[in-house]
Amino acid sequence: MDDHRGGAVSHAAVRIDLSAIRDNVAELRARAGAADVMVVVKGDAYGHGLVPAARAAQAGGATWLGTAALSEALALRAAGIGGRLMSWLFAPGERWTDALAAGIDVSASAPWTVEEITAAARETGRTARLHLKVDSGLGRSGAPEADWPALIDTALKAQAEGLVNVVGLWSHFAIADSPRHPTNTAQIAAFENAVAWAEARGVRPEVRHLANSAAALLLPRAHFDLVRTGLASYGLSPMPDVVGPGDVGLRPAMSVRARLALVKRVPAGHGVSYGHVYITDRETNLGLVPLGYADGVPRHGSGGEGDPGAPVLVGGRVRRVAGRVCMDQFVVDLGDDDLRAGDEVVLFGDAAAGEPTAQDWAQACRTISYEIVTRFAPRMPRTYIGMEEAL
Ligand SMILES: *Cc1c(COP(=O)(O)O)cnc(C)c1O
Repeated sequence: MDDHRGGAVSHAAVRIDLSAIRDNVAELRARAGAADVMVVVKGDAYGHGLVPAARAAQAGGATWLGTAALSEALALRAAGIGGRLMSWLFAPGERWTDALAAGIDVSASAPWTVEEITAAARETGRTARLHLKVDSGLGRSGAPEADWPALIDTALKAQAEGLVNVVGLWSHFAIADSPRHPTNTAQIAAFENAVAWAEARGVRPEVRHLANSAAALLLPRAHFDLVRTGLASYGLSPMPDVVGPGDVGLRPAMSVRARLALVKRVPAGHGVSYGHVYITDRETNLGLVPLGYADGVPRHGSGGEGDPGAPVLVGGRVRRVAGRVCMDQFVVDLGDDDLRAGDEVVLFGDAAAGEPTAQDWAQACRTISYEIVTRFAPRMPRTYIGMEEAL
């Protein structure tokens, strides 16, 4: 397989189909109706590559991009990415003046954040675009209801001085992946109350936003002016028990591919990999895959001692990881199939192509597909296909 823009053959790569991101975002836009779409590109665009994924998202019609860390928003601007861009997770002492100079929207859940942003606005002479976040029930960031009035008043005071402009009111769901859960209804009501309270005090937001991918897909009442889609933009379902990606017109952008490094015949009763948690039950061929947990392959995908092992596609058949995943390699039991070093192994990709999915890996590892796609290491080359113009 080709390296990103190079001719070199590598033994393994994360392949990203940027046209899938573009098309998924176009689909999400259509489903969002009148609301705008912010594609969330935190976590190196969920492991898909911050800048190429952002360009693909914009090509699909995303008018906003969002990151948790300010460093990622600044990296987008440094790469020449325009459009609305919001960042939301801060500790005291952030690079506020850089954020303002780069035209990045910022968020506050507490007065200290407004005060630091205000100081930076005073210093630079730029008005900050500020979103105020209420905790409508998630119990993570956001001002609790009792502290909302103080946050609003701090922001309005700074707005009166021309230092900030409160452009957004927002919150985040706890259980949108269960669309019928009563907590969703309660959060929508709490958010509407918080918005009404702020508007009564004189806030005139450009955007009110609450929905993540799950709510963008299945809770139209939560769309408001803007939906913030992360996982769905990359073609994965945030609620795999409710809908698969294909059911809602999405296709996965990431696949992880390698080549067999060794195939060998071993007798029955042969222990495989550290700890010998997998023992061959017959004479068989073992295939060595040159990827391990240092590359981001979860050790929880190991097979043996009652664990079936995560699935991999080799030689047209889905097989299972045999024994423990090591730092750099793992083994697959190939049975009697005649495969060779160099043959392709697909850890996960698109179900429509018969490949295991990131969700299958998540299930085997007792986690969520978010964690599977975000964990591939920088030493794994990213190969981009589908949208040359985004590179
Ligand atoms: C990560 C994140 C999102 C996107 O969530 P998905 O479930 O991936 O769509 C939206 N909003 C906030 C605040 C987030 O942190």
